[in-house]
Amino acid sequence: MSDVAFQRCISPPCGESYGIYESLLSCKKCGHLLDVVYDWERLQPPTDWSYFEQKWSRRNDPLCFSGVWRFRDLLPFAPPEKIVTIGEGQTLLQKADEVAKYVNLNAGGLLLQYEGMNPSGSFKDNGMSAAFTHAQMIGAKRAACASTGNTSASLALYCAITRQMRAVIFIGSGKISYGKLSQALEYGALTVQIAGDFDDAMQRVQEVSRQLGIYLVNSVNPFRLEGQKTIMYRVLEALRWEVPDWIVVPGGNLGNSSSFGKAFAELKELGLIERIPRIAIINASGANTLWELFEQRGLRWNSGQPDKGIVDAYHAELDALQRRASTIASAIEINRPVNLYKCLRALELTDGVVREVSDQEMMDAKAQVGAGGYGCEPASAASVAGAKLLRNEGVIGAGDRVVCILTGHQLKDPDATVAYHTTDQDKFNQVLGSRGVKRAAFANRAVTVSNDLEEIIKAIQLYS
Ligand SMILES: *Cc1c(COP(=O)(O)O)cnc(C)c1O
Ligand SMILES: [Zn+2]
Repeated sequence: MSDVAFQRCISPPCGESYGIYESLLSCKKCGHLLDVVYDWERLQPPTDWSYFEQKWSRRNDPLCFSGVWRFRDLLPFAPPEKIVTIGEGQTLLQKADEVAKYVNLNAGGLLLQYEGMNPSGSFKDNGMSAAFTHAQMIGAKRAACASTGNTSASLALYCAITRQMRAVIFIGSGKISYGKLSQALEYGALTVQIAGDFDDAMQRVQEVSRQLGIYLVNSVNPFRLEGQKTIMYRVLEALRWEVPDWIVVPGGNLGNSSSFGKAFAELKELGLIERIPRIAIINASGANTLWELFEQRGLRWNSGQPDKGIVDAYHAELDALQRRASTIASAIEINRPVNLYKCLRALELTDGVVREVSDQEMMDAKAQVGAGGYGCEPASAASVAGAKLLRNEGVIGAGDRVVCILTGHQLKDPDATVAYHTTDQDKFNQVLGSRGVKRAAFANRAVTVSNDLEEIIKAIQLYS
């Protein structure tokens, strides 16, 4: 594939190209992020979605079964024999009318994309499958990531199943939910807990990877984002290839939003879609760098000439105030998103918007999602809380078709869920009160009764 796929600097004034077999975290000339780009003229990818539909009947072939690799003609960087798949991408787009009501959308207007159904329980598997494939292509022996939890769970799982690489994961102290940590530990990853937060761990892992030549699977890795493009293909597939009006996604390191933008740019270029949906990226208000830069300070991609001074000034402010990201949504508890510039490009392409939502709004939205079935972790619910906010502002119309990406499984962070529904005020205060969550409007409280048959029967009759 080395003659039809390349890596290329995202900054138009530079645009330096690199081979597909190089492992780089950024452009050697200018330091910007890299894209994986393709020579579509020579590749001649399918011009019709029916090509992909035909793969449904060939599910005994792992490359057709995978929700990532059945679209491999749209991410053609790997020879088929090098592709690593563990059955990722078997996810579901579900119409959710109860949640639509909560968001104030018409019936049928809200669709939830359940990425928590992936093998390790989050959307990260889409990207990990692609990054792992690239690591195999270049013969890597060890792979590392900094993680708020889900990237490490995913990496650890791919390493455990394939036995082809050793996982080294960096986590900040006390910042990872037990659901996620338990996965990394059980799957056998070397777990390095550093005294700092995610932003610290992210910086360190890049230094360590460079020094030791360890393959890095964080979303600075452009191959990971290729895998994540397929989330959008599956959304379109579930909608019978009709483009929705909005894609709403939580924003952390901004890999997802960046990859969605790239997916739509390519689909448009290839003639597979005629219209590009708008993307809404939702920050937690305790980790709102993108919102601050884009909505408050006017930072724009500006056709590839963003005003870096705005970013530097903001980072200097964060440093001066020693401000750290803080939200119950640990998966997006990030103040220095590594994909900021790619994300700005996606916002320009899709006429996107950015909003912030509070932990209160996220936890309430999460309870609504869960009450409708399947459920999600706190960060994922930012998408639904954000859709509600945009609907109330009138930015999203009542009749719009809106897809919210539920990035992670409900069981990832049971602490937050139980604290929301508990009758134990101390537990509530400890986990949620400390985050500024004041009430649990949609709590489903357990009923306490004495161990007495009559009392139990009375309680059941009273409450059901
Ligand atoms: C990683 C993660 C996010 C953040 O996604 P980015 O691509 O980093 O913006 C959101 N939700 C969950 C559950 C995650 O694991
Ligand atoms: Zn460059």
